[in-house]
Amino acid sequence: MPKITNLNSIQVLDSRGTPTIRTFITLDNKFTGIATVPSGASTGKYEAVEIRDNIPEKFLGKSVNKCLEIIETKIKPEIMDSQFNSLEEFDRILIDLDNTNDKSYLGANTLLSLSMSFSKSIALSQNLELFESFDSNTTIYKSPVPLMNILNGGKHASLSSDFQEYMIIPIGFESYDDAINCCVKIYWGLKAFLDSKGKSTSVGDEGGFVSPYSDNEEPLKLIIKCIENAGYKPGEEVMIGLDVAASELLNKNKYKINISKSKSDLITQDNLLDFYIYLVDNYPIISIEDPFDQDDWEYWNKINTKIGNKIQIVGDDLLVTSLNKIERSIKEKSCNTVLIKPNQIGTITETLKAIDFAHDNNLNTIISHRSGDTEDSFISDLVVGTRSNQIKSGAPARSERTSKYNRISEIKMLKKNINYIGRNSMIL
Ligand code: PEP
Ligand code: MG
Repeated sequence: MPKITNLNSIQVLDSRGTPTIRTFITLDNKFTGIATVPSGASTGKYEAVEIRDNIPEKFLGKSVNKCLEIIETKIKPEIMDSQFNSLEEFDRILIDLDNTNDKSYLGANTLLSLSMSFSKSIALSQNLELFESFDSNTTIYKSPVPLMNILNGGKHASLSSDFQEYMIIPIGFESYDDAINCCVKIYWGLKAFLDSKGKSTSVGDEGGFVSPYSDNEEPLKLIIKCIENAGYKPGEEVMIGLDVAASELLNKNKYKINISKSKSDLITQDNLLDFYIYLVDNYPIISIEDPFDQDDWEYWNKINTKIGNKIQIVGDDLLVTSLNKIERSIKEKSCNTVLIKPNQIGTITETLKAIDFAHDNNLNTIISHRSGDTEDSFISDLVVGTRSNQIKSGAPARSERTSKYNRISEIKMLKKNINYIGRNSMIL
């Protein structure tokens, strides 16, 4: 096993212009893994925590020099010139050095930058592509279904929908290229349509368009029209996914969500449940992420019991890529799909364990970017290498989003016989 001979970390910017960490780990065989960590905006309450400097003059408190110092003084002395037999062994050192439940001593952002860059350097040194390094027994890979967020709202946009994400899901295609072509045509069509109506075509954090809507149903009508205008069949070739990010909309015991039928903007849990059932009955919605608050386990069970046999109920803030939370959600039948974000937990080893545990328990997995992301396409290798069925990386535009979709094209080139998973990405 090679030794770590060099380790450097620097501060760089993410897609929102917020500082983040890029780490370079070199092994004695001279291979260097380089990785950059993303960062969320609608972060779950139970996510592993980021460390930032909190000095207002420096990037309004967001700089990460403390993390660089932690790497130099607390981590480097423990790992330099050391040999690690596996990524798991490397991550074990990081987890033990941190020794907190939420990674607050060393920072999830600090640890993930190391874990990702070590994953890359070890794969390089074994002459493997990153996706091949996650499971040495796998030789058959599939290209995943992209969940493309084409309308942004919630915390990712101002003056837009309450729901955070409206995604198109191209399941009815034979090839990944056809699926991407479809998404791009719908995305461009949506822009032209908004333009023709004199509406804004500015975009939110994940590259989806941002416009004011009368309620949270109007965007669905718009998307259906654009799917049809692009020559596709909604409900057959293209489905729709929502990320409500409901934890951000909770106001005391009610949700601040504008549904046209309600006189008030604040609706009860039962109103919201009925609204979801109405939407699923009337639109080709196949996936709803974070339909209720991260602590509202009762209503997660209710929605999963009611419509979890028809659509994906996806736990993001509810599960925060944590084994314990996923375990609880299995016991309480809260959802059928797990959203996976490595920086919610802080190391790649723990991320891989969460994915395996979900798969062993017949839960689907979606590998996800963050709203503040970078040119690093690590999650594309993660989705292919772990045989997860779906990837969520925002719009088919803006390089921090397309780098993920493009890396999957690259993997297709490297492994000639990769088929598109299409409809089989759904476990329903
Ligand atoms: C999400 O909520 O799924 C998301 C990608 O947004 P953020 O990174 O802001 O949590
Ligand atoms: Mg989410």
